[in-house]
Amino acid sequence: MSHEEQITQAVELIGQANYIVAFTGAGISVESGIPDFRSAGGLWTRYNPDEYATYSAFLTRPEKYWTMHKELRSLILSVQPNPAHIALAALEHEFGKLKTVITQNVDFLHTRAGNSVVLELHGSTRIYHCISCKAEYEYTEIDTFLATGQFPPRCPKCEGIIKPNTILFGESLPFDVYQSARDEVTKADLFIVIGSSLVVYPAATLPPLAVSTGSRLLILNVEPTPMDNKADVVIHAKAGEIMTKIISKLKKSD
Ligand code: NAD
Repeated sequence: MSHEEQITQAVELIGQANYIVAFTGAGISVESGIPDFRSAGGLWTRYNPDEYATYSAFLTRPEKYWTMHKELRSLILSVQPNPAHIALAALEHEFGKLKTVITQNVDFLHTRAGNSVVLELHGSTRIYHCISCKAEYEYTEIDTFLATGQFPPRCPKCEGIIKPNTILFGESLPFDVYQSARDEVTKADLFIVIGSSLVVYPAATLPPLAVSTGSRLLILNVEPTPMDNKADVVIHAKAGEIMTKIISKLKKSD
């Protein structure tokens, strides 16, 4: 089946839905300029996650973690939401169909695109905290801390080490966020996966939960996923290109 035919089917699914929940992964941000971590040149090909991105590594060698994080942080702050993020904002605000975005990304591009309910399963680089006194800081304050020359940056209140509110390997998902995500999934009549390999757990339990609680499933991902055979429509293509076409067809059929 051609992409055009798949797009037509996707538009039909969206047209019939009243409670859409989107589930996104690293792939949705690739067209913004943030590579997924596993592809050639991605972060994990240059920084071994066991050494740089586990919670125990952070506690013992926080400067190593911060070397990697500084690079990721500069990249995230230099990019903008792409047409796929903007399409999800349109599905919420123009069409009134999208209720929640559940994301594995830490780049807060969905919030920047304008979606109002964004559940960040793996946290976000928008907020940081001191691991000693738990004081929280906006990302905009971190440059000031880094400018003092202290590396890794330290809390101005207690000198504790600062950490972004992202989930490292070995840390649990924030329970309330994960529970809210599961509640939203059970309400969905259409679950749209965009840019996720669906192999990172427990996030990957959400698409099967959607199907088992009666939702239809649309998957938009460059590569095949383990859930393709359970989906009503699967499109293997770039998210931004396809979502732009979907939104323009939806506008014509309005
Ligand atoms: P993943 O890297 O496992 O999978 C990404 C998927 O996106 C791949 O299957 C790939 O085929 C697909 N893809 C690549 N470019 C695409 C495009 N233009 N359009 C559509 N699909 C595209 O990503 P994941 O499942 O999100 O898991 C990786 C983990 O790494 C997550 O836990 C996440 O926290 C983290 N991560 C976050 C960011 C970010 O915040 N932007 C970036 C990289 C990794």
